[in-house]
Amino acid sequence: MITIECKVYGSVQQFSRVDEAIRTVQFIRNKCLRLWMDHQDSETGIGRNELARHTAELAQSYGFVRHLNSSARQASAERTWTAISRFYQSRKANSPIRYPRFQKDNRSMEYRKSGWKLEARHSRITFTDGCGIGTLRLRGGHNLTLLQPDYINRVRLLRRADGYYLQLLVKRDAPQPLPPAHRQVGLDVGLRHFLVDSEGQAVANPRHHKRSLDRLKRKQRQLARMKKGSQNRKKAAQKLSRLYLKTSRQRKDFVVKTARCVVKSNDLIAVEQLQVRNLLKNHRLARSIQDVGWRQFMQWLSYFARKMGRTMVFVPAKHTTSLCSGCGALVPKSLRERVHRCSCGLVMDRDHNAARNILKFALHTVGHTEIQA
Ligand SMILES: [Zn+2]
Repeated sequence: MITIECKVYGSVQQFSRVDEAIRTVQFIRNKCLRLWMDHQDSETGIGRNELARHTAELAQSYGFVRHLNSSARQASAERTWTAISRFYQSRKANSPIRYPRFQKDNRSMEYRKSGWKLEARHSRITFTDGCGIGTLRLRGGHNLTLLQPDYINRVRLLRRADGYYLQLLVKRDAPQPLPPAHRQVGLDVGLRHFLVDSEGQAVANPRHHKRSLDRLKRKQRQLARMKKGSQNRKKAAQKLSRLYLKTSRQRKDFVVKTARCVVKSNDLIAVEQLQVRNLLKNHRLARSIQDVGWRQFMQWLSYFARKMGRTMVFVPAKHTTSLCSGCGALVPKSLRERVHRCSCGLVMDRDHNAARNILKFALHTVGHTEIQA
């Protein structure tokens, strides 16, 4: 699925209708969740179908739910179901339990195949259900005229700090494999560089990274000093969230470019499996931003690998830094030691050594590893 994003323009009144629709979606979601919670212990468990039926009942009892297009109502119930099944999965897998929560700050809604009409040539979209959103104008760097409406599977409306956006989720064409690159690579992600590969090449963090981070920190501190509930604080909070948005866009650009480049020039890409649990624990801003970047990077690597017909292998994160990539001996090191020094004579940058191990592990297991694409 390809996502095409445009900024939408309309009147204040139209956007308040969008807000209303977004609230309705949240209402349905929470009602569905409540139904499931209330019947969790009973023999007749609540499944996907029951939620769908419940949505129809809600539409009968509440006028504002009825106004929302039925595919959007169903999409909302589906989202609840996704959260619930994630909970079941986490329980089954004995991983941290992710109990579904009531949603308080929903910022998006989704239509499927109906309830909207795209006029690509005029760059506008009209919502045809009872929510009264009407016609919104679209701006974005995309040529929508080439888009076949049949290929649009979902239409999403999102609210962000700097306005409203439309996402079109378009069916992806068949993958187009590239000619082989005759190269394989292992990647180690680290704090000092964005990544180091098994050839010893380092990709530095983007230059704007440090600057944005400093600005974010400063703004956060300013915000913390302001009186709660004050007008100034509100303004500062808005500024901060805009800055976040800008930073995350810059990061995404960087990450996409780097991932595309790596996948294009390698037949096999090996990376370490990031520990999600560790990632979530980190409260330091620099780390948490870096973590989000890596996670996105992995996702884009997988995406491009699938698209270009490359192989992607995730190796477990155990011992990748401590093993010697030359002789295989265990050379434990503290976090501070930047250089790998082994009694076999191998001396190299710590991350370079790790990247070589990652590639080695991957080649060792690639015959029987699921490719997580
Ligand atoms: Zn060695």
